[in-house]
Amino acid sequence: MAGARILIVEDEPRIAEVLERYLKAEGFAVERAADGRRALELWRAANPDLILLDLMLPDVDGFEVARAVRRTSDVPILMVTARAEEADRLIGLGLGADDYIVKPFSPREVVARVRAVLRRAAGQVRPPVHHAVGALTVDLDAFQARCGEAPLDLSPAQLRLLATLAAQPGRAFRRAELLEGGSDGFADERTVDAHVKNLRRRLGACADQLETVRGVGYRLRP
Ligand code: CA
Repeated sequence: MAGARILIVEDEPRIAEVLERYLKAEGFAVERAADGRRALELWRAANPDLILLDLMLPDVDGFEVARAVRRTSDVPILMVTARAEEADRLIGLGLGADDYIVKPFSPREVVARVRAVLRRAAGQVRPPVHHAVGALTVDLDAFQARCGEAPLDLSPAQLRLLATLAAQPGRAFRRAELLEGGSDGFADERTVDAHVKNLRRRLGACADQLETVRGVGYRLRP
């Protein structure tokens, strides 16, 4: 656990600084993001062992960050919120938070929770992230996708997009749900269209499984 990397996502610099100081003093490596977009960039670049995620953020809020992270990762997320009842709801909604802390908190409490969540995560055996939809298979652990036996040549962003669609076959996803943010992600709904178009071209014989749902977005036909 010593040397575990923690990504602090917090828009109030004073709080972020205190957290960083305490966590570093305990031997953790720390990265900081002050908004959701930067949080997703750093999450991809730094591959942290735990995300300490404030909910109320400018731009992309904590809910969106958690949702985007959970599409492809089970990194522990410790939510930070100002309201306990809201936090209860979050856990109930299954948005992917492993635990939560209510503001105002003591930094010592945060450190203790971080340790507890990391300990729990270390003891878990992670199920493989593997989806099969018709002839299409997506394996996020190996970062590979196939149509039948044929391997598909996809970029990381295309693979994540395909994995998102494949996680719920038949469900129509709105373009906004497929936004990723970040430097290699999809910054607006038009780039989602462009990425889907490119993805479809690379699906080979499985291309017709990726359907456009008029007025809504896209789905993967089971
Ligand atoms: Ca905030």
